[in-house]
Amino acid sequence: MTDTRGLWQAVLGELEVSVSRANFSTWFGHTSIISNQDGHVVIGVPNIFTKNWLEKKYHGDIKAALQKVSTEVHTVEYKIGSVPAAPAPVRPAPRDHKPAAAVQTSLPTAAAAKPHNLNEKYTFDTFVVGSSNELAYAACQAVAKNPGTKYNPLFIYGGVGLGKTHLMQAVGNEISQHDPGKRIEYVTSESFTNEFLQALQKKSTQSFAEKYRQVDVLIVDDVQFLATKERTVEEFFHTFNALHQANKQIILSSDKPPQAINGLEDRLRSRFASGMTADVQPPDLETRAAILQRKAAAHGLALELDVIDYLARHCQSNIRELEGTLTRLMAFCELRSLQPSVAAATALLGNTADSRPRFRSITPKLVIERTAAYFDLAPADLTGTRRDKEIVGPRQIAMYLMRHDLGLSYPKIGEAVGKRDHTTAMHSVSKIEGKIDRDEMLRGDVQSIRDRLQAG
Ligand code: ADP
Ligand code: MG
Repeated sequence: MTDTRGLWQAVLGELEVSVSRANFSTWFGHTSIISNQDGHVVIGVPNIFTKNWLEKKYHGDIKAALQKVSTEVHTVEYKIGSVPAAPAPVRPAPRDHKPAAAVQTSLPTAAAAKPHNLNEKYTFDTFVVGSSNELAYAACQAVAKNPGTKYNPLFIYGGVGLGKTHLMQAVGNEISQHDPGKRIEYVTSESFTNEFLQALQKKSTQSFAEKYRQVDVLIVDDVQFLATKERTVEEFFHTFNALHQANKQIILSSDKPPQAINGLEDRLRSRFASGMTADVQPPDLETRAAILQRKAAAHGLALELDVIDYLARHCQSNIRELEGTLTRLMAFCELRSLQPSVAAATALLGNTADSRPRFRSITPKLVIERTAAYFDLAPADLTGTRRDKEIVGPRQIAMYLMRHDLGLSYPKIGEAVGKRDHTTAMHSVSKIEGKIDRDEMLRGDVQSIRDRLQAG
């Protein structure tokens, strides 16, 4: 195939199936084929970070997809740069289209009067998915596809700055895009309360009730702040029931799961928990790096890998803080006419994050120490013979990490964890492997220990 653009579109169509949507647009959004000669394909990428990432994470997939579409392809290379004339569109057309048709991109629809009060920057496309938020992301996507049917209400919970508002609004934006006639109302529980109290004062509770009962999708953010004022809760309860009975979608967020919200009436608690509940956790290092890369690119900035790495290690707890740090670094560099670099980041943020070696060598001993510390145990508990549940689980996690992160052989793992038999090590590792995809909590524990191992 000589049409490089058509070829790349077809490859993107293949890749799209195996890569999550947000990661897809992060890593493939600004790529193209620069040249394709004698079976050697040069792929243009926007920056060094993307180059490294594609080489490290997606090279196998890319090459396989290329070879599937064009049997002449033998080798693949990544270069910073693009085909000047026609940059690749961010999203390829659906798979079942012929490549020629796939080149067309959809045009933005004309701006109509907005039947909603959403912030349009919060979309699924700009949301980076990692293990910390994939459940919530999937639930939100399901709701966006079929509002009012499957997961109603959808209840998203988790700490500050982890993407709850972004996800809920993305659902609203997506629904509105497919069906511009749908009435979508986004409201924080505080403004719901204030609005209702004002309506009470003005004796206009009737029109307040009507307004909320006419919506197709109601999004209520931070329900933990729903006032305990009796009449507000009463009104909210009736609104909830009316919409729910009419199969209108309700989406709620909170800092805690319904069972754990203080002072919430039981009848609300049970309704909140009656649909789908999904949490968002702090992002792991990889996701933080992807988010930074994404946000920098949105500002037209290509950050070097080491700068991304530095910032991602510096801000561990939440994404709002991560964004803030990036913004500060950009301002800092702009004012001083500097290129963003680790040196600049260190000058701005201090030495806290990078004083430790970037790729420290992690030993089995360190894995045992960090795992034990994470679970408030002593290293000797993990290497010892006790078989209590509280110890067996962490011991298995330590072995899992030795296998997956250190690549140790089973006999070595057994040896490191109190001279155990290699079959014990095998059994332990497969125990965790069998659970980790289903068990969010376990995944969180393993990730936290990983982060601590990296943190030196
Ligand atoms: P919360 O409502 O949980 O406090 P927000 O949704 O307000 O958090 O997120 C804080 C900021 O971080 C927002 O600017 C949001 O766009 C961004 N953000 C959060 N999670 C992600 C993500 N996974 N990918 C990209 N941006 C994110
Ligand atoms: Mg929020």
